[in-house]
Amino acid sequence: MAEKRDYYEVLGVAKGCSDDELKKAYRKLAKQYHPDLNPNDQNAAEKFKEVNEAYEVLSDSQKRVRYDQFGHAGVDPSYNAGGGGAYGGGFGFDVGDIGDIFENFFGGGGFGTRTRNPNGPIRGNHVSVQIPLSFMEAAKGCKKEISIQRLERCEHCKGTGAAEGTQPETCSVCNGTGQVRVQQRTPFGVVQSSRACDRCGGKGKVIKEPCTACRGMGRVRRTQTISVSIPAGIDDGQTFVMSGQGDHGVNGGPAGDLNVTASVRPDPIFERDGFDVWCEVPITFTQAVLGDSVTVPTIDGKVTYDVPEGTQPGTTFRLRNKGISYVNGRGRGDQYVRVSIEVPRNLSNKQKEALKQFENLSSDKNYEKRKNFFDKLKDFMNNKEG
Ligand SMILES: [Zn+2]
Ligand SMILES: [Zn+2]
Repeated sequence: MAEKRDYYEVLGVAKGCSDDELKKAYRKLAKQYHPDLNPNDQNAAEKFKEVNEAYEVLSDSQKRVRYDQFGHAGVDPSYNAGGGGAYGGGFGFDVGDIGDIFENFFGGGGFGTRTRNPNGPIRGNHVSVQIPLSFMEAAKGCKKEISIQRLERCEHCKGTGAAEGTQPETCSVCNGTGQVRVQQRTPFGVVQSSRACDRCGGKGKVIKEPCTACRGMGRVRRTQTISVSIPAGIDDGQTFVMSGQGDHGVNGGPAGDLNVTASVRPDPIFERDGFDVWCEVPITFTQAVLGDSVTVPTIDGKVTYDVPEGTQPGTTFRLRNKGISYVNGRGRGDQYVRVSIEVPRNLSNKQKEALKQFENLSSDKNYEKRKNFFDKLKDFMNNKEG
């Protein structure tokens, strides 16, 4: 039997190529030599097997490392130069299987995807939390303490999951790899794949005597109080990330993140529109007529604003740069103040008398809108009669 070709050479890729390049090269060649497309072509069938074998090794990061170091002997104990590979196998043909097999090779997952090293570092999950804020807390920013639940490394067993004084043992079924080989007889020969080891559940290690504190999990769920700096200007529904504050990692992996989402309560005075703030200020009938200095609330405190003589209901004025600070930059929005005019009620006779006197002194030139309206109404009635 001829000496085995170099796997990189088989796939036509460089030694340092990325997983993506590897996958692309594999798929291209696997299609090219697929027995389904090359019926009765023994040469193509051999190539197909060779390509699958090369990819099977190089797509597994652990095996690839061993292969890079030791060549074929590093990944196939039965291999000695010139000694033939482990992939023999008949070539029975069962048309019904082809769809499945094809699916396995080219579908989104099975064959090419290897589970990561079960004993390697695994990052902790992200944890999400909602933080209730008042309008002002969100607008101005604040510091808050929040209570979250997350998985933390078990201090009893230092994260190993094994009872005090014991250590997890390497699984004897899979020799610590977490994976067991499965040989599948297919129309194109025997294809090897692997699946998670039953004995250790893919972890590669077996805990004979589990730690009582974490029941062998190595992590425990804890409630933790976290100090959070709320950035000024955050709006309802916005999320910011506190990196490394999520679940602790496994096997020395980094912790996940904590995603904090603001839930801003409505305010009795202010309303928000982007970085602008709106509020409504009721003024008296007389203030509207004569003009006045009125007190207006802003998120920075009270300011006075001179409402001009003859201010109409619904007039909106703008206070520049009194809005909310932009979260990631300089500057801030504006505040809009909408004036509502309250019609006085429960008048005394004296007040009523004064108003009647006022009305007697009024003329059309005091009520421009009203005059316009009645002019139009007159035209309308005349046209109707005419
Ligand atoms: Zn195992
Ligand atoms: Zn423990």
